[in-house]
Amino acid sequence: MREYDLVVIGSGPGGQKAAIAAAKLGKSVAIVERGRMVGGVCVNTGTIPSKTLREAVVYLTGMSQRELYGASYRVKDKITPADLLARTQHVIGKQVDVVRSQLMRNRIDLVLGHGRFIDPHTILVEEDAQGERVTVSGDYVVIATGTKPVRPSGVEFDERRVLDSDGILDLRSLPASMVVVGAGVIGIEYASMFAALGTKVTVVEKRDTMLDFCDPEIVEALKFHLRDLAVTFRFGEEVTAVDVGAAGTVTTLGSGKQIPAETVMYSAGREGQTANLGLENAGLETDNRGRIFVDDEFQTKVEHIYAVGDVIGFPALAATSMDQGRLAAYHAFGEPTDGITALQPIGIYSIPEISYVGATEVELTKNSIPYEVGVCRYRELARGQIAGDSYGMLKLLVSTRDRTLLGAHIFGTSATEMVHIGQAVMGCGGTVDYLVDAVFNYPTFSEAYKVAALDVTNKMRALSQFLR
Ligand SMILES: Cc1cc2nc3c(=O)[nH]c(=O)nc-3n(C[C@H](O)[C@H](O)[C@H](O)COP(=O)(O)OP(=O)(O)OC[C@H]3O[C@@H](n4cnc5c(N)ncnc54)[C@H](O)[C@@H]3O)c2cc1C
Repeated sequence: MREYDLVVIGSGPGGQKAAIAAAKLGKSVAIVERGRMVGGVCVNTGTIPSKTLREAVVYLTGMSQRELYGASYRVKDKITPADLLARTQHVIGKQVDVVRSQLMRNRIDLVLGHGRFIDPHTILVEEDAQGERVTVSGDYVVIATGTKPVRPSGVEFDERRVLDSDGILDLRSLPASMVVVGAGVIGIEYASMFAALGTKVTVVEKRDTMLDFCDPEIVEALKFHLRDLAVTFRFGEEVTAVDVGAAGTVTTLGSGKQIPAETVMYSAGREGQTANLGLENAGLETDNRGRIFVDDEFQTKVEHIYAVGDVIGFPALAATSMDQGRLAAYHAFGEPTDGITALQPIGIYSIPEISYVGATEVELTKNSIPYEVGVCRYRELARGQIAGDSYGMLKLLVSTRDRTLLGAHIFGTSATEMVHIGQAVMGCGGTVDYLVDAVFNYPTFSEAYKVAALDVTNKMRALSQFLR
């Protein structure tokens, strides 16, 4: 048996950063991972492939240039899955290599195989292919086993016509039509990618709304754009059956509607990968979605066992998982921290993309916090015209009590990058006046902050003038 200060199960963002943080503190660390998944869901089937696919779609379809060169502009006429996947496989390969190299540089042992607790400190690692078995034990253990897509009973996944977000990466041809079940982040990201490729997409969502944690005005803008790409939304509808025939599928809804499509993609939530982890041998259990409960320090009810990343539930993002991993390792080895920051950005890589940080108008209104709104439309910006983005917008929410920035909401080109300016101002407790006075490079999208800041301060000035 090999003994370590820390054993981490799962090499996704949470596990990696827990392992590296502990190694930097001089601790001996092993990370357990199934053979073909080094880098986790993030690198192999989730964040990295989906974002690379998006980049390939935007580039090859020429969509972002059509305002300038016309509706028929394309970089490549007949786009095939091979065109898209070549780029994806290239990036995955590079990222796996980066992860391996970081683990090696930090002298972290990578133990390949499926890990399972045999007692609270000991994990048996079994490698399927070679039938090898290794036992590792840790003074501390971090569980970072992530999630897998939920597959509803009664639906046959054949990986060709009916699949989930994992199966989408193995598509052999681009479907002419597709039903996406579930209008969550993953569903909407893939719906917009396929719509951009010319697939006729129908999104079925049992709730009446989508992405309702985001600013409603921005979600409306996205819906408008997706409808423009021939996406049909069926809100408030449930799928009752998916039938597969020789030529395609028919999805039947509770209301009796039937939707023919070549492919059906399920994106109806994810569940913790905890079923074969031997948690009972460690004194742990999960909720009905396989998730593990932790406290604010990411400690489970068994003091030396921590859990981080998607396996603990919301917000289930790579960015957050990384920080949870780092903080769990610091807590285990007594390194002081300020805990996880409350100010976390959200990015949705739909086409166009969405990002925000801080409060929404809905939340501020519900909590009776008075605010004013400043808006900049990208079409007002020289950079917007140069880049051919006339639909993008940035919206700032500013406290009318003390002029602090309460939220920044962005739709359009580089939204997921731009959001960090708002995040930095908010993180430092800054007011809108910083943005009014700041000089930004010109022409840039960042300048939208200044335009929106001027807009909101003009409105606040009008308020004080009327009250004089
Ligand atoms: C399609 C898709 C798109 C996404 N896009 C984004 C995005 O744009 N931005 C973002 O921030 N997040 C995104 N996410 C979420 C992001 O991928 C996850 O939040 C992140 O990967 C979670 O990290 P994690 O540390 O929990 O581990 P994961 O990345 O989930 O990896 C867990 C690892 O644990 C391993 N494992 C599980 N059980 C065992 C075991 N018993 N023994 C050994 N190994 C085990 C698995 O093989 C896996 O490699 C996306 C997810 C998906 C599915």
